[in-house]
Amino acid sequence: MSKVKLDKKTLNFKLWTYFIGFASTIMIILWLLQIVFINSFYEYMKINEIKKIGDQLVSQYGSVDFEEILIEKSFSEGISINILDESGRLIYPLEFFDIIRQPRLETNTFSELLTRLYKSENNTTIYTRDDSRLKFPVLTYGAILENPQSTNYFLYINTVIEPIDSTVSVLKNQLIIITILSLLLAVGLSFLISKKLSKPIVDITQSAKNLMRGNYNIEFKKGYYTEIDNLADTLNDTTAELSKTEDLRQDLISNITHDLKTPLTLIKSYGELIRDISGDDKEKRDYHLDIIIQETDKLSHFVDDMLDLSRVQSGLKSLEIKEIDLLECSQKVINRFNYYIEQEEFQFSISSKGFTKILGDESKIEQAIYNLVSNGINYSKDNKKILISVEGSDQWVRLAVKDYGEGIAEEDLNRIWDRYYRGGKLHKRGKTGTGIGLSIVKSIVIAHEGKYGVESVLGEGSTFILEFKRA
Ligand code: ADP
Repeated sequence: MSKVKLDKKTLNFKLWTYFIGFASTIMIILWLLQIVFINSFYEYMKINEIKKIGDQLVSQYGSVDFEEILIEKSFSEGISINILDESGRLIYPLEFFDIIRQPRLETNTFSELLTRLYKSENNTTIYTRDDSRLKFPVLTYGAILENPQSTNYFLYINTVIEPIDSTVSVLKNQLIIITILSLLLAVGLSFLISKKLSKPIVDITQSAKNLMRGNYNIEFKKGYYTEIDNLADTLNDTTAELSKTEDLRQDLISNITHDLKTPLTLIKSYGELIRDISGDDKEKRDYHLDIIIQETDKLSHFVDDMLDLSRVQSGLKSLEIKEIDLLECSQKVINRFNYYIEQEEFQFSISSKGFTKILGDESKIEQAIYNLVSNGINYSKDNKKILISVEGSDQWVRLAVKDYGEGIAEEDLNRIWDRYYRGGKLHKRGKTGTGIGLSIVKSIVIAHEGKYGVESVLGEGSTFILEFKRA
């Protein structure tokens, strides 16, 4: 049989322990205060109370209405207040017959009071004593009332300390109920809250698992609390991005299949043609060989593009930054396109204004310019002009590559920078492309903390613009 292991890291378990811990602590404090310490607490209160009354009376001794104060205190507080003389005789309260009886405090009791009083520092004393006539111990307060002209009197206050066991037992019963209830409540509440807290997380995990299996049609559910909303938003955005890339990737695969297949088919069939038919006819053979060479070029260009992407991406992690001149870079790039100038009658022109130096990685920046110029060539029709301009301002140096080619449709403008995206579905099959060139440009510009953009009118041409911080 497999053992079920308790996962102590779960939200449920944590909340549950916190709640139980919290409830138990409160309960322990209540039990200690209400049950364990209640007697000493009660005694402490009583002592304080009797001390307060006693001290007050001592300070009021000598005032004209002292006797009235005594009467009022013993009534209102329900305690016995006596005044004794030096031989233990009762001075107050006296009833009519007391004048004849002359009652006295029992000798032992009185001498204990005196001993304690004379030993005390401030002429007052508080202590508990047992009285044989009473069931419970008595709390006693004594004080010397000084009379400068004659002998001193003694204030003698007594109050019975009734045990509060009955109260305690009532409290105990109540506390047992409260304890059980609060523990149950803690368990229930922690269960409810943890369910509320963990439910959205569990949901999101489930969706993430679906995503992992390649299902992009999932939605990360929001709700319950802001943090989860934010997480769900982020994950939904990520999913959208992933699915976009996935769509483009699938597009690319079908494009690649087509773009590889067309030249290969051509190469194969022209090869066969030469072998079977035109082999001996120099003119025809050369014509067929030219086609084979062109198609091979297309293929290798295509493979280069694919390789560039991974090369640039890994290269962007460590840029070799130094001061470079955008004008010089552009000139170098154009030199690489000599073939097009000589063979295809392309016209390149470069202009510059102001400061043209930036801080950047020369080979990467040249690669970006190369891609733009190469696109300009690829998407030019009859008007084979490419203009490059470099212009510096206080903070930026701006490079523009302008062509007079087919232009870009408005709805494509934002997407052409995406990896694998190939715009203008119209010409789609006419040209070899991977949809990678501009995404490489974008990555390079971003790595240099620059800006990129494009202005284009369909049928009239496009201007690609890059901006870098000046050196
Ligand atoms: P590729 O050229 O291999 O398709 P890019 O990333 O270089 O890939 O370009 C993406 C898309 O942007 C192209 O398919 C094309 O539709 C459009 N595009 C890029 N440059 C130009 C341009 N100079 N003129 C017209 N369209 C362009």
